Amino acid sequence: MFVDSHCHLDRLDPETHDGDLAATLDAARARGVSQFLAVAVTLEGVACLAAIARDHDDVVISAGVHPLHQVPEEPDIESIKEVAERFEAVAIGEAGLDYHYLHPDRVDSLPDPVPSREVQRERFRRQLIAATELELPVIVHTRDAREDTLALIREHTDPAVGGVLHCFTEDLEMAREAVRLGFYISLSGIVTFRNADALRDLARQIPLDRLLIETDSPYLAPVPHRGKPNQPAWVVEVAECIAATRGISVDEVAMQTTANFYHLFHAAVPQAPEIVKDALA
Ligand SMILES: [Zn+2]
Ligand SMILES: [Zn+2]
Repeated sequence: MFVDSHCHLDRLDPETHDGDLAATLDAARARGVSQFLAVAVTLEGVACLAAIARDHDDVVISAGVHPLHQVPEEPDIESIKEVAERFEAVAIGEAGLDYHYLHPDRVDSLPDPVPSREVQRERFRRQLIAATELELPVIVHTRDAREDTLALIREHTDPAVGGVLHCFTEDLEMAREAVRLGFYISLSGIVTFRNADALRDLARQIPLDRLLIETDSPYLAPVPHRGKPNQPAWVVEVAECIAATRGISVDEVAMQTTANFYHLFHAAVPQAPEIVKDALA
């Protein structure tokens, strides 16, 4: 039994996913994926995610603003909390810091201008405070911003509530510090990439009871599906890669990452399959 702990179900291209979302989710269910966390990138997008969750019992959602998203006005702490409560989000996010595109000698770029470091930090800070006040875990997107990400988490997050560093691609030292701060580390299809030896090394060294798995669909399809739009069914490839890397069974990775998911996202437990609830009890 697998959980896709991070997917963007409102961004899947219907043309490439057998015509509709229901079929895409069915394909994942057929491979044993029993829970999906649909992650928000804007507060305005949360209503659409909530509609998907209404239609599918095994979908839960988050509420938050992505660090790279341009917004006309920065939401304050109260409005973040209001949206999260109104739509019954199980987490705040994705929130965080992404300095990658602000680096002077980067070679890639985004179509729109990227929010400055200062804007990103204030946006992240507000979401961390909202999460702490609601006692909800936070889904953190972090890239090329190790020190600032950890400093803000340290200052504003309750380790008893914690969160996850999603689609993790930073170093082992950062992962270990995040674990000390009550966080989980989530690995995506990147762990299967040929040049990802450092990440596989990290996948071996992080305690299994601190790992989550995700697809980040429709982005970052794992080997052997690279280049195609990603889908939640392929979280199984991520689990298989971690199992092979650690020399344990896929079942063990599936069981432990599923238990970890419900341990972190406690508000999702009522939606868990009965067999999972029994195991957690
Ligand atoms: Zn992200
Ligand atoms: Zn994402």
